[in-house]
Order: sequence, then structure tokens, then C-alpha cells
Amino acid sequence: MTAPVALPPSVRRIAFDDLDPADRVGYEAAFEQADTGLSEGGVPVGSSIVRNGEVIASRRNRRVQEGDPIAHGEMNALRLAGRQPTYRDVTLHTTLAPCMMCTGTIIQFKIPRIVVGEAQTFPGNFDVLAEAGVEILLLDHGPSIDLMTRFQTEYPEVWAEDIAEDTAEDIAEDIAEDIAEDTAEDTADDAADDTLDDTAH
Ligand SMILES: [Zn+2]
Repeated sequence: MTAPVALPPSVRRIAFDDLDPADRVGYEAAFEQADTGLSEGGVPVGSSIVRNGEVIASRRNRRVQEGDPIAHGEMNALRLAGRQPTYRDVTLHTTLAPCMMCTGTIIQFKIPRIVVGEAQTFPGNFDVLAEAGVEILLLDHGPSIDLMTRFQTEYPEVWAEDIAEDTAEDIAEDIAEDIAEDTAEDTADDAADDTLDDTAH
């Protein structure tokens, strides 16, 4: 697993049980989505959008289910919520620290506040969010960590694809290809040298 990340000072750690009722309802909706995601064989990240204590949309990562590379939980919750006149009065919940795509979307829509389940299995981009003035509540939510850990262990290649990271296997293949290329070049150089040698003789 990833080493613990250094968090910007604007990230506030809070236990799920200490959340206010509106945040609790929002996070529960996001977690339920994540749980459903794993049961579908998908990436178990859930998200919800809450306004005035009411969940206006909750959805999960459906990248595997729909073959859609940008169908992350946060993107899907925002899509399901439909057009909103403003996002300045909403909280976005997500079971996992947002990737750069979702971070950009949160900033793009000027969402002022997010509740994040965990940043242990994926560190996300809290520094970018904090820089943009987004308030971040981090739960270190055990059940969310368990879900992601199970998923990352069971489907490492799907996970690597989700965050656009090369798997260890890909990296090994790249290295093997580089070596093969170098060898081919060396052989060509040697052949050229031989020709020169021949000429010199
Ligand atoms: Zn994302």
C-alpha cells in the first residue's frame, strides 16, 4: 500500500461518528454506492452530492461496468445531479481521495467543500484542492479502506488502469522492450563498425 501522505494543513481529519447528521447521510450514500460497485466487479468508489442536508445525487465508479474511462464516482454523481445553477452550496462526498480529473472538476464547478473517506490506498491531490481553497474533511473511514484494499488486491490491473498508472508487469515489459531496442541498435552499430573495419583492411 501507499505510504501515508503529508497532508496540507487545510485538511481536517474527523471520524465518521463525529460528522454532523447531514454529512453522515451524504457519506453513507457514497459508501453504499462504493459497496455496490465492488459487488459488480467495478472500482469501489462512491460519491454523492448534498445540498441542505439532502442527497441530490449519489453514484459510483462505473468505468468497468460501462467501459467508460471517465466514469469515476464523482463524475457520475455530478452527471446524475444534472445542471445546477450553482455548486457553491453543495458538499461532494467521495469514498476515496479524488484523482486529478475529479480534482479538476471539483475546482471547475467551484465546489467549496468535500468529505473524503480515505487517502491511504490512493493519495489523490489534496495539495491542488487546498490551493484552490476547497475545504477537505478526511475520515480515514475503515470500511472504505477495506473495500479499496480488497479491490486493489483482487483486481490490480483494473486499478492501475483506473488511475492511469502502469502495472509492475507493464513496467517490466517497457524495460524489456528498451533493452531489445538497445541490443538491436548495438547490433546495427557493430555491423556498421564491421563494414568500416572491412574497408580499413
Ligand atoms: Zn476521479
